[in-house]
Amino acid sequence: MKASDNQQAELLALANLDLEITRAKVSLNNLTSGEAFSQLRQAQRDAAAALIEARNALDGVELELTRAEADLQLVEQRIQKDNLRLNQTSSSKDAQGIQSELDTLAKRKSELEDLELEVLERKDNSEAAYKAVLSDKQSIDDELATKEAANEAEIMKIRSGLDLSTAQRLQQAARIDQELVELYEKKATRGVAVGRLLGTECGACRMTIGATALAEINSLPRDEIATCPDCQAILVR
Ligand SMILES: [Zn+2]
Repeated sequence: MKASDNQQAELLALANLDLEITRAKVSLNNLTSGEAFSQLRQAQRDAAAALIEARNALDGVELELTRAEADLQLVEQRIQKDNLRLNQTSSSKDAQGIQSELDTLAKRKSELEDLELEVLERKDNSEAAYKAVLSDKQSIDDELATKEAANEAEIMKIRSGLDLSTAQRLQQAARIDQELVELYEKKATRGVAVGRLLGTECGACRMTIGATALAEINSLPRDEIATCPDCQAILVR
């Protein structure tokens, strides 16, 4: 097939645009796959689960504390009542019975106070653990949001670049004989369709062309299309 130097140069420009478009599409695929965030999203799910667990633990301890406080209050009321009864009774037998109950209640009160202290300490620990998990989750949320926003911005940038390249490609293809475009596109389905002859090297496949083949290529008229013997790409001399 014949093609002027100018047509061959236009074909190279078309190939460069196609390369740009392909690269943009690959980048777009990578950015939209969300694969870059899969680890961070997993960490976010783990942190959310840990947060629920920590919240449940804290709720449990708070409930224990409420119960311990209520029990203690009951015992204190009972002691108050018994003391009143003790002051009012004139029977020494009754007084003995009340005193014995008061001794038991004092022991019970002391046990409940110890329990309350122990539960309070566990509540402090649970609260600290909950806050730590919450803070972890918040930093993961923030990191993910920042990265996703940056990713989204990059996607927009590449999409608008791709729109431009696609429009340019249409214009560029219109400058080239249709037959030559068709030949190029047919070759493009199999790999790099056009390359410059760089000394003895094919610009498409980067193979060195043998002396005999090179001599044949160089003996072709300027407007005759040369082909790489290795990759079959159109060689622009
Ligand atoms: Zn080649």
